[in-house]
Amino acid sequence: MTQQPAASHFVDGKPIEDPAGRPIEVIYPATGETIATVHAGTDAIIEQALESAMRAQAEWAALTGTERGRVLRRAADIIRERNRELSELETFDTGKPLQETLVADALSGADALEYFGGIAATIGGETVGFGADFAYTRREPLGVCVGIGAWNYPIQIACWKAAPALACGNAMIFKPSEMTPLSALKLAEILIDAGAPAGLFNVVQGYGDVGAKLTGDPRVAKISLTGSVPTGKKVYAGAVEGLHHVTLELGGKSPLIVFDDADIESAIGGAMLGNFYSSGQICSNGTRVFVHSSIRDRFVERLVERTRAIVIGDPMDEAVQMGPLISAAQREKVRGYVETGKKEGAALEIGGGIPNIQGFDNGFFMEPAVFTGVTDDMTIAREEIFGPVMSVLDFDDEDEVIARANSTEFGLAAGVFTGNLARAHRTIARLQAGTCWINAYNLTPAGMPFGGVKASGFGRENAAAAIESYSQIKSVYVGLGPVESPY
Ligand code: NAD
Repeated sequence: MTQQPAASHFVDGKPIEDPAGRPIEVIYPATGETIATVHAGTDAIIEQALESAMRAQAEWAALTGTERGRVLRRAADIIRERNRELSELETFDTGKPLQETLVADALSGADALEYFGGIAATIGGETVGFGADFAYTRREPLGVCVGIGAWNYPIQIACWKAAPALACGNAMIFKPSEMTPLSALKLAEILIDAGAPAGLFNVVQGYGDVGAKLTGDPRVAKISLTGSVPTGKKVYAGAVEGLHHVTLELGGKSPLIVFDDADIESAIGGAMLGNFYSSGQICSNGTRVFVHSSIRDRFVERLVERTRAIVIGDPMDEAVQMGPLISAAQREKVRGYVETGKKEGAALEIGGGIPNIQGFDNGFFMEPAVFTGVTDDMTIAREEIFGPVMSVLDFDDEDEVIARANSTEFGLAAGVFTGNLARAHRTIARLQAGTCWINAYNLTPAGMPFGGVKASGFGRENAAAAIESYSQIKSVYVGLGPVESPY
């Protein structure tokens, strides 16, 4: 069962340890067992990470885009070859069922490496004429970037940040979430195997204080955080001092609107994916499911039936569809929301309890919950729960539902299910959200920009938009004639 890595950190091309760092216990959420212990990065480790990253960045930026892209694409191939091993590790680290990690975690990371590996050679500037003179732009790397991850998609988040950063010629120091420190170490090893220079992608473990040290260092050019809104505010405030570039991928409370002409089975499938996948621990989840009142009863009946059929259990069993939550504390928090929902008058149609799973008594499992009769002012309709709790809200009118959907501080994602495409596009255009789906939910291919508006953050991951986030433009004016000067 032990998943103890060779060392806590991966810096300058190799695993390194400093036992003076605060210990971090890695728990397998399905059993509550400790599967590894790593140490938080000390000042000495952070220093080595920064120094080696600066050295590697200069070397890396001097390569052609084609050469850099080749390394990223090789890394993608290695990830695909090692997908099962990486998926099993991710399941140990997160508790997410292997059925999911085999298709949605390392492979999504490989997609990003392949995508950015493919476009690395095309990253360039433009030329603008000014009479006989002209100007050209160079798209240059920022330098050393810091990536900070959440625990729900550890290797995917590491790849989504590293791939565009490295494609542009930057180096990255990645600090995984203290809950899930293991898989980023594998990515670091794989990038070395793929030909990246030592120090280009370093992994330093730690709690928030290590994150704060890294993001506050003046040698860092850019920070990309995936995490909660409160952490986002702290990181942003810290970045002000050094005027660092920042990308923030934060939380959400996204609306999913089901109109009366929707294909109901698809809409239910979308709502379930958007609430129960990864035990509901997904930032973009459509946790406010607005269902037109004329189809509401049919929708809820089938939703409850299908929710009852979800197979919860041993995450390593590929037939299992739902694993535990990440930690005992997270389960307690989520179950607290279930209690609040009941107290505030919502109807719990199913779930919310602790299932009895033989051999996994100490795991952090919870039954997926569906609430109906939820109103906009209820706590469960306002706050991000980050667990398998779906709120169904009724609506009657398009204008009304759009106004209610937008009435939140968040703006990460939104979804619309309808058979009327004019209505779909019209509605999406009016929703305040960075990432939207029509008749689908939570699909995030590497070629589609991903990110939020309002309190859900800014900057975009994936697609060409991410290149903007990891590079800067240098403008060069070229005079071809004699200089006309009044002096
Ligand atoms: P969190 O904010 O507690 O932690 C995120 C990361 O920030 C961790 O690595 C943590 O150690 C680090 N951190 C904490 N304090 C810091 C500080 N002062 N300076 C620098 N780093 C610091 O979030 P979490 O509980 O790990 O993840 C859940 C949250 O992440 C949810 O709100 C979820 O919506 C969000 N999330 C967003 C996305 C997205 O792409 N928008 C994706 C996944 C998760």
